[in-house]
Amino acid sequence: MTGWTSTPRLAGCDENWVENLSYLLAKYNWSENLHPIVNKLSNGERLSIADGHILYSHTSLNEVGHLANLAKLSRYGNSVFFNSNVHVNQTNICVLACRFCAFRRSKKQADSYALSIDEYLEEIEKYSGLIDEVHSVGGLHPDWDVSFYEKLISAAKRKYPDISIKALTAVEIKHLSNKSNINFTETLKRLKKAGLDSLPGGGAEILNDDVRGIICNGKESSDEYLQIHREAHTIGLPSNATMLFGTIESINDRLVHMDKLRNLADEYRLLQCFVPYPFLPDSTRLPQAQLATSNEILRTIAVSRLMLDSVPHIKAYRMNIGDEVAELALNYGADDIDGTVRQESIMHLAGAKSSLDYGIFQMAKLVKDAGFVPVKRNTTYTKFSSVKLEPPKRAKRLKIIQ
Ligand code: SF4
Repeated sequence: MTGWTSTPRLAGCDENWVENLSYLLAKYNWSENLHPIVNKLSNGERLSIADGHILYSHTSLNEVGHLANLAKLSRYGNSVFFNSNVHVNQTNICVLACRFCAFRRSKKQADSYALSIDEYLEEIEKYSGLIDEVHSVGGLHPDWDVSFYEKLISAAKRKYPDISIKALTAVEIKHLSNKSNINFTETLKRLKKAGLDSLPGGGAEILNDDVRGIICNGKESSDEYLQIHREAHTIGLPSNATMLFGTIESINDRLVHMDKLRNLADEYRLLQCFVPYPFLPDSTRLPQAQLATSNEILRTIAVSRLMLDSVPHIKAYRMNIGDEVAELALNYGADDIDGTVRQESIMHLAGAKSSLDYGIFQMAKLVKDAGFVPVKRNTTYTKFSSVKLEPPKRAKRLKIIQ
């Protein structure tokens, strides 16, 4: 393996990506109705929400995907990134009951759980030699405040100083602030001091309070989500941001969501990755959901790449969209694919079927089969290493004796 580094703000992106994109765009003949958009992209101008509507309604998905793929190539060439991580969901006990959530339990339910600090460390221990990130999100436990998480995070950091801790979504930060009677900044500062390295992006759902009132009543408001991420960036904690689509939102809601996030990213350049994923249906939760098709998933990933000019990475979240669509998404503007994962509850309880036992070889093969060069990265996109595709060793065949 050979390695290279970047800064958290550049996050591995080529500084000359606008010039690169302009050069690449000039090589092709684009449909006439896309010309104003192509011109803007060539000049490094931000696309408007009206442009986003044109991309969503353009008849050729492949042409929108091609535009997005060139935008990706201009930043990272043929590289596609992944990391080696494990998901540890510390508790499924939650004081809220979001309509789309198949994970939460009340304290009284027989299959509710809350890991002790030792149990949490045991979950990391199983994979500690293989991973460089632990990704921890969970329910809003009625008894856990910021001091519990300070102990949890500092214990993990003491035992595994080289493993990056990406933990706690915005609504968990809000919950801990409320439980501890301190503001968001104080909560984040204490957690950072304990060893928190970055925030995951979960809980953004759709940043429209009318939609939130129906699908996740009681969660943080759109402004609170943005405020918590802004305050994390202010103290130097990078973060990601998600978008849950295919519930009851409109295309305009999705585009406004992207607009809010790119404006947030403009401020400190520490919103590193956008993770769009569709609602996974079952017959009991949110029956009025519109549900996204594969076509719509690929289009949303492509539009995200083109709209979110100030967010370096677009993730194909294979836990949710599955390996097949994730592989295709790498040709529709996604440059990042999450991850080895190894264990995960939230998406799998909601119906995800993606493999959990991927090692570096399987991840690299998935990227290579999509036509790209696999690159292993750390959590904050500051360290990169190329990956040699070596198959796992197989047992030798016995000689046939004649
Ligand atoms: S999505 Fe999060 S906050 Fe909402 S019910 Fe599920 S665990 Fe609780």
